[in-house]
Amino acid sequence: MKKEIKGKTKFGEPILICPRCNKGMDKIKKHEIIIDTCRKCNGLWLDDKEIEKIIEAAHNAANKDKAFKKKK
Ligand SMILES: [Zn+2]
Repeated sequence: MKKEIKGKTKFGEPILICPRCNKGMDKIKKHEIIIDTCRKCNGLWLDDKEIEKIIEAAHNAANKDKAFKKKK
């Protein structure tokens, strides 16, 4: 179970609590995906579907890279 504390992040989402350190986690945005990270233990929290989005984004990036290399 993920815990939330009162307050919202700059993305308007609830702040999560790191299950390891019980500290509020930061949110970082990468490729339109918001990831919760803990500054203390460098832990990551991914919501449902976020891992799929990351895989998709990584896949797309890899394909773009291939297309770029082919042109050369
Ligand atoms: Zn932590």
